[in-house]
Amino acid sequence: MTLPIQKLEQLETPFYIYDADLLRETLKTINEEAGKYKNFCVHYAVKANANKKVLGIIAQAGLGADCVSGGEIMAAVAAGFPEDKIVYAGVGKSDWEIELGLNVGISCFNVESVAELEVINEIAGQLGEVATVAFRINPEVGAHTHANITTGLAENKFGIAMRDMIPAIKKAEEMENVKFTGLHFHIGSQILEMDDFKALCERINELQDQLEAEGIKVQSINVGGGLGIDYQNPDENPIPNFKDFFATYAEGLKLREGQTLHFELGRAVVAQMGSLITRTLYIKEGVAKKFLIVDAGMTDLIRPALYDAYHKIENISSDEPEEAYDVVGPICESSDVFGKGRMLNKSKRHDLIAMRSAGAYGEIMASRYNCRQLPKGFMIDEL
Ligand SMILES: *Cc1c(COP(=O)(O)O)cnc(C)c1O
Repeated sequence: MTLPIQKLEQLETPFYIYDADLLRETLKTINEEAGKYKNFCVHYAVKANANKKVLGIIAQAGLGADCVSGGEIMAAVAAGFPEDKIVYAGVGKSDWEIELGLNVGISCFNVESVAELEVINEIAGQLGEVATVAFRINPEVGAHTHANITTGLAENKFGIAMRDMIPAIKKAEEMENVKFTGLHFHIGSQILEMDDFKALCERINELQDQLEAEGIKVQSINVGGGLGIDYQNPDENPIPNFKDFFATYAEGLKLREGQTLHFELGRAVVAQMGSLITRTLYIKEGVAKKFLIVDAGMTDLIRPALYDAYHKIENISSDEPEEAYDVVGPICESSDVFGKGRMLNKSKRHDLIAMRSAGAYGEIMASRYNCRQLPKGFMIDEL
């Protein structure tokens, strides 16, 4: 991504900048690669980035939406995602959120407990509706990623245990106001090893055999998202490996006649098209190192503080030889550090710094801690 520095200079920092061309290119690749297989449907996980313009471009490309709250359902509808391509997951759905989903006419509730199933049945009954439901199953498949972003292990709060799957489906089949249609999974995020997805395929094949033996019909399988991106080399690898991702599922899953296969990709769609742009406030000479203090903090981009995440950091205003800096924000927390011992072009006050690959779980996770303003998001081509 080449950043228009002159234009960025005019804006008040910190802010997010999004490259719409890269987003469109990424979406085109997704549609081409998923389009090689019949019955593959790709949804966008809205929680990764719900910026209005970003959502609009993704909706235009024809993807469905994966939502985890009522607010996301509203954002998806407002952005133009068709109601019948919206799915809704989450361990704690409030009554108003279930009502909203029913009133909007979303395609599927991904149900995470029998307690939730009972409430959905009751609310759907009151509204005179039948809710389409899939069960999110905890497949006990580990993913080689950060411990805070694995979701498919027995210790995680998500999904229904495998041993409870058949009783839960039988329960749903006896209910008047829900219709069981499928299984849902999501094993974690920032997964780069295709073997992790392959392990999920094998588990789903086993579960499908069990269901078949019980005479239970499944119309759709949803394998969630989780495909990772190259945080180290955003310029070399701006578009994730969708080819291998979809091929892994095409080869590994034994889909039954007429079954549709759904994906929910978040990070892989939007991470590389975004950068957080911040300004250098001070260069502080520490005892053993130099601190580069910027005007963005963990309130603008929390991933480094929350997950120890790596973002490539560049000084886009300087051509001078590199020096090592600890790049830190102004927030009153010791974890407000973007990177330690990073090599950046020699920096001075007012230089612009770019934190790369920040399009996913960046702007959307911003907070007002320390009474700070929320960062804005701009599209490069609109500056
Ligand atoms: C977060 C989430 C996703 C998207 O995960 P990515 O790693 O961003 O692809 C998909 N499905 C569900 C249910 C999620 O919670």
